[in-house]
Amino acid sequence: MNDDQNPQRAGDGYKCLACGYNISGLALGERCPECGSEVKQFASPGAQTSGKAITSMVLGIISIVTCMGYGIVGLPCGIIAVIFAKKARLAIQAGSAPASSQGMATAGKVCGWIGIVLNSLMLAYLVVIIFVLILGAAGAAATP
Ligand SMILES: [Zn+2]
Repeated sequence: MNDDQNPQRAGDGYKCLACGYNISGLALGERCPECGSEVKQFASPGAQTSGKAITSMVLGIISIVTCMGYGIVGLPCGIIAVIFAKKARLAIQAGSAPASSQGMATAGKVCGWIGIVLNSLMLAYLVVIIFVLILGAAGAAATP
């Protein structure tokens, strides 16, 4: 009746453990079209996620969360998040990182830029406050 007794098939982004070839759609026991080794186990696509994309997204979020710290922590985090997002995108284009990481890299880039803007505003605010305090102190000193 049903020959296809629900064999475990590799989903999108799964790779051959032997050679890393994309084997999505293959079932356990079938042979990898690239290296010919029997597929005994799938490499999890989760483990294949680009570290750069993850770093970018995490730093982007940290950048936004820490924007109340006057940009001291958030600004560098935001800049690094944008840099890592770019590195991740280049790695994906070069084929050394899975395309599934693109969404995370984009999120990192967007969060990073939001973080840079928020932190720059906070940093500018801090500079203005310091300026006003200095001017106020100078004004007070000048007053007899
Ligand atoms: Zn293979």
